[in-house]
Amino acid sequence: MHERDVVIIGGGVIGCSIAYYLAKRGARVTVLERDLFGSHASSAAAGILGAQLEMDGPGPLSELCLKSRSMFPDLASELYRLTGIDIELIRAGIMHIAWTPEEAEMLRHRGALQRSRGEVADWWDRDRVRSLEPAVSDQIEGALYIPRDSHVSPARLTRAFSFAAELLGAEMIERCEVTSLRIEKDRVEGVESDRGTFRAEHVVLAAGAWTVTLAKQLGVHLPVVPMKGESLAVFPRRARFERTLFAEGCYLVPKADGKVIVGATERGGDFTEWVTTDAIRCLTSKAVRLVPDLAESTFIRAWASVRPSSPDGLPYVGRMGHYRNLFVATSHFRNGILLSPITGQRIADLIAGEEVPDIEPFSPNRLLSDDSSQQ
Ligand code: FAD
Repeated sequence: MHERDVVIIGGGVIGCSIAYYLAKRGARVTVLERDLFGSHASSAAAGILGAQLEMDGPGPLSELCLKSRSMFPDLASELYRLTGIDIELIRAGIMHIAWTPEEAEMLRHRGALQRSRGEVADWWDRDRVRSLEPAVSDQIEGALYIPRDSHVSPARLTRAFSFAAELLGAEMIERCEVTSLRIEKDRVEGVESDRGTFRAEHVVLAAGAWTVTLAKQLGVHLPVVPMKGESLAVFPRRARFERTLFAEGCYLVPKADGKVIVGATERGGDFTEWVTTDAIRCLTSKAVRLVPDLAESTFIRAWASVRPSSPDGLPYVGRMGHYRNLFVATSHFRNGILLSPITGQRIADLIAGEEVPDIEPFSPNRLLSDDSSQQ
């Protein structure tokens, strides 16, 4: 018998959530993080819980997003009780802005679809939007208002998951880079790192955009597509608004501490984590178009990281290849914060040997191929 039940590689929001849900079940867990917990995509996010915002139609991903969103109110209280960390869940809703009559038509249609599925989504014309949020530009056509979508602080959420897991007995190790996996037949026998070998009954790959490198060591190609994103934060001097504003190419998220997050660029195939002046120029001009008074705001800082995505737009959550004790959880793209609770809970269920039908469509095996074909 091994000294631990599960080793998780990667301490972003996904790895830390899995550790939390496993530790709650009493599993002996170790998380290995190359840098600091939450130091990559998970603290670069805006923290939007946009289950309806991202919904184009029915499907397994949309169902999973809705289920995960519904977990947040209880999760926020649970994590606060355990750790004293407030994840700053703000339930003020999101306005999906239309600039043109064509966009307005598309959003009205989307709203009708969402209402037919029992969700709340109301079309507001320009005057209604501006009567509630006078800071919004008078050039917009209107907005689809989605009251149930919300947002959290992603850095606080990741910290709360990791601290809660630790309080429940998990071993949380930073500055520990996994260098290889030791394979015997159909099992991962050990995880090699720059701080020694870790053995466990089960191994979870949750290394975000970098999971592709670890999968390669198993001789398989798991297509994880890096999608760089840059964002910035400003402190508004005059403009005040309460709801998240989401428009083509730009969103504005008013946070609990008064700052506004302006996001985000998207650039495929780029692993760099620096901010370009072009990104700052593009994002600030779109932000000022949407809320003109933001021109008076104070610039706080800008940052960048890499979202893990996949060629078919679905995350990978499930058992990996023919290995009996290997699992993967990554490629949540723009929704990793939103999907973190359900991913953690479902992976913990799977490791405990339970049937988890709602994650079957996300099996990594759907796109897994022999690495030799990728040379
Ligand atoms: P990461 O946070 O990148 O964590 C992976 C970790 O694995 C890293 O810390 C890394 O150091 C570690 N690692 C890698 N290789 C190794 C190794 N060999 N050994 C040990 N450790 C290793 N999502 C939302 O839901 N809402 C949003 O509003 C939102 N906005 C976003 C805005 C931007 C600009 C960006 C970039 C992302 C946004 N996202 C959002 C997406 C979300 O941030 C990601 O989907 C999520 O953070 C992915 O989490 P992760 O744990 O898989 O990856």
